Amino acid sequence: MEMRRSRIIATAIVLGLLGAAIPVAAMAYVSWAIALNKELAVLTRSAEQAYLRASRTFDDARKALKAADAADLPRCSEEHIRRMRMMTVNTPSIEEVGYFEGGVLRCTSWGRSDEGIAKSHVDYVTPDGMEITLRVQPAISHGRRMTAMHFGSHNALVVPSRFVDILVDDAISLAVLNEDGMLLDGLNGPDPALVRSVLGQAGSGVAGNTMFAVSRGESLVAVATEPKANLAAKVRSEQLLLLPIGAFIAAFVVGTIVWLSRKRLSPLADLEVAVRKREFIVHYQPIVELKSGICVGAEALVRWQRPDGSLVRPDLFIPLAEETGLIMPITDQVVDAVIADLKTMLLEDRTVHIAINLCAADMASGRILDVIDGRLRGTGIRHEQIWLEATERGFIDIEAARTTLQIARQRGHSVAIDDFGTGYSSLQYLQELPLDALKIDKSFVDTAGIEAATSSVTPYIIGMAKELRLFTVAEGIETERQAEYLKEHDVDFGQGWLFSKPLPAAEFIKFHRQSKARHGSAPERIRASAA
Ligand code: C2E
Ligand code: CA
Ligand code: CA
Repeated sequence: MEMRRSRIIATAIVLGLLGAAIPVAAMAYVSWAIALNKELAVLTRSAEQAYLRASRTFDDARKALKAADAADLPRCSEEHIRRMRMMTVNTPSIEEVGYFEGGVLRCTSWGRSDEGIAKSHVDYVTPDGMEITLRVQPAISHGRRMTAMHFGSHNALVVPSRFVDILVDDAISLAVLNEDGMLLDGLNGPDPALVRSVLGQAGSGVAGNTMFAVSRGESLVAVATEPKANLAAKVRSEQLLLLPIGAFIAAFVVGTIVWLSRKRLSPLADLEVAVRKREFIVHYQPIVELKSGICVGAEALVRWQRPDGSLVRPDLFIPLAEETGLIMPITDQVVDAVIADLKTMLLEDRTVHIAINLCAADMASGRILDVIDGRLRGTGIRHEQIWLEATERGFIDIEAARTTLQIARQRGHSVAIDDFGTGYSSLQYLQELPLDALKIDKSFVDTAGIEAATSSVTPYIIGMAKELRLFTVAEGIETERQAEYLKEHDVDFGQGWLFSKPLPAAEFIKFHRQSKARHGSAPERIRASAA
């Protein structure tokens, strides 16, 4: 049993630690996962916006340049220049438009150009044939460096930041690249090596110390990156909400574990396990005929034998068992034990009877009678050989008790009222019940033959039994003097340490055999002549 306890405690500690750690760890992880997902969503949105922005700029420029090339106007005429200027007005991303002839700039949206500026080198060509030069110093306006897009004989200058002209957190770096990975522009100083390392990826994720999102189209790629370290603050703000939830769950889990363990450690749980494992055995206390000293049978007294072999006295578990109803399966185990232990002896000597203690619930329901009937069937043991003992508590519902007693006696059992004299039963009350025997409680036996005030109660109790025409059994006889007194007062049977303590089955069988060798069998007269 100690091992069971320590196993329960050890299990509870392990489960408790897990139960505390897992919810908190899970919430910490969920905080991190939520923060990461949110941040990756922000990055994805930024990359998508940058991509849309850049491809829109390209499309706008391409459309304008195609239209300009297609227009049938005298080159560098007033009308042509006006048309080019209109392009810069109508297409917000285009700052300046130029017209080339023979590789030399002839006129721009600003006017004619006679400086003989050559078409700048081409950095790359888009799949649809637009030539891109990334950094161009505008020849006429001499403004900021720009990106040139050349199609046919026209080009458009675009401020590169137009590509990534979106609002993002300072912590997020954006890069727009062509399909070959050439950086067209960036925002918040993207690290080119880092951008290249995630370029091959799709969607979003974490690479090394960087969170990233990639948005890809036919000829453009936008990459948003952010140091993973930035996540810490965001994880903390998620934790602010989730960790208390984790702690709450942990407290609940630990509380449940403690509650369940305490339940499993409770005496009731111990007793439940004992019933399940059939840990109950029976000792037999001989009952002798006072006149002759012949052993007429025994009272079956249950013992709880723990796995370590130690015996638990019934007063320590019977009250709990009665309170919880576990007494019924225990009584069943007592019946089983009586049959298993004493079948041979009961078949050999038909005068022997074994008294079984009934609980109040069985007395009220009569359930036990069918159990005994079922177990006796086929054994050859007679119902007459099983006596039943019931205390006054079993007679509280007097009508139910009467029914049980009647059935019991019909089947052949004798029934004794146990611990007689300790309750409140009146003579009248007992007269109404079909009883066979009365067990005089030890407290009256203790005073038997001693000149004390209470000793006068004992003859009265004995007299009452005589009046009811019941057999009497005196319990707890410890001295010769008590035995003599009881014999003089015509008490029929006695039970107590003077004759024998309760014995294990084998010893009781030996005790009975020796008694028989000395005195012979008990006379066949155990059924009382009561109503
Ligand atoms: P009880 O039915 O009155 O049983 C008699 C008790 O007195 C037994 O204690 C027995 O060992 C003890 N006893 C017998 N002779 C002497 C004696 O000379 N001196 C002293 N000091 N004691 C003596 P035990 O076995 O500890 O049983 C205690 C009580 O537990 C029983 O009292 C009975 O009420 C209950 N009990 C025992 N077995 C069962 C059972 O199978 N079913 C039910 N429902 N109750 C049981
Ligand atoms: Ca008893
Ligand atoms: Ca008793």
